[in-house]
Amino acid sequence: MADLMRGKRGLIMGVANDRSIAWGIARTMAAEGAELAFTYQGEAFGKRVEPLAASVGSDILVDCDVTDDASLDRAFDTLKERWGTIDFVVHAIAYSDKSELAGRFVDTSRENFRNSLSISCYSLIDVARRARPLMPEGGTILTLTYQGSNRVTPFYNVMGVAKAALESAVRYLANDLGPDGIRVNALSPGPMKTLAGAAIGGARKTFKHTDQNAPLGHNATLEAVGGTAAWLASDYGACTTGEIVMVDGGYHVLGMPQAGNIG
Ligand code: NAD
Repeated sequence: MADLMRGKRGLIMGVANDRSIAWGIARTMAAEGAELAFTYQGEAFGKRVEPLAASVGSDILVDCDVTDDASLDRAFDTLKERWGTIDFVVHAIAYSDKSELAGRFVDTSRENFRNSLSISCYSLIDVARRARPLMPEGGTILTLTYQGSNRVTPFYNVMGVAKAALESAVRYLANDLGPDGIRVNALSPGPMKTLAGAAIGGARKTFKHTDQNAPLGHNATLEAVGGTAAWLASDYGACTTGEIVMVDGGYHVLGMPQAGNIG
């Protein structure tokens, strides 16, 4: 490994298990020399995250539900006490009631709309506001999106609207925090086999379709997303902010499926 992130410290939010995108990113960043802290959502996930964190030498773990201001404060207070400053935050968090990731978008309920946008988009703003004072020399904030934000994707529904809001928030945050030397970007992987991914109706078909049609002939892997995240959070990403970086095997350039898959 190249020690791309030696000397950098950061928070990883959103590891649920060893298939989580956040874990793929954490593993690569740790291999590149970064020191990591983790948040997890509730005790059950905590039990899974603890050994993963230990395997990359981290003993900073905080239970944090992004709908709860006090737990967000606790997470950033802990970082301040332990490290004083941080260099990056990875925000890999999204939620919608599973029942609305099937059926028609037009049936989205007000309550799930509010909840999905709050957890999947507003939490990034909440995190950025708390991270800023801990990044006096600048830093990087990375979030995760999906191209269902701007292309209609079966059953992605309210999550597509949440990701569109999230991508817009990335641009506004990048502009606000640019003068502080803080870069804000999103990675946009194709479909991946994770807990959140499996909650979307037709997930297996979407995964297979992308795998069979992406120009590179395969979906994103945890390693590929991790590598892109490490590049962006490293000094090599120093001039990139407000960007949505596709990590989808090139699927997004297509106007229709590959010739052999039509009809
Ligand atoms: P995952 O289920 O492993 O991770 C989702 C995480 O969100 C979990 O750790 C969960 O605990 C956390 N979370 C949900 N509600 C929360 C709350 N209220 N407070 C704190 N944490 C909360 O699935 P993943 O696929 O790794 O998802 C990570 C990110 O990647 C999400 O933003 C997702 O939309 C995005 N993404 C996923 C795919 C895919 O196909 N899996 C593709 C593109 C983007």
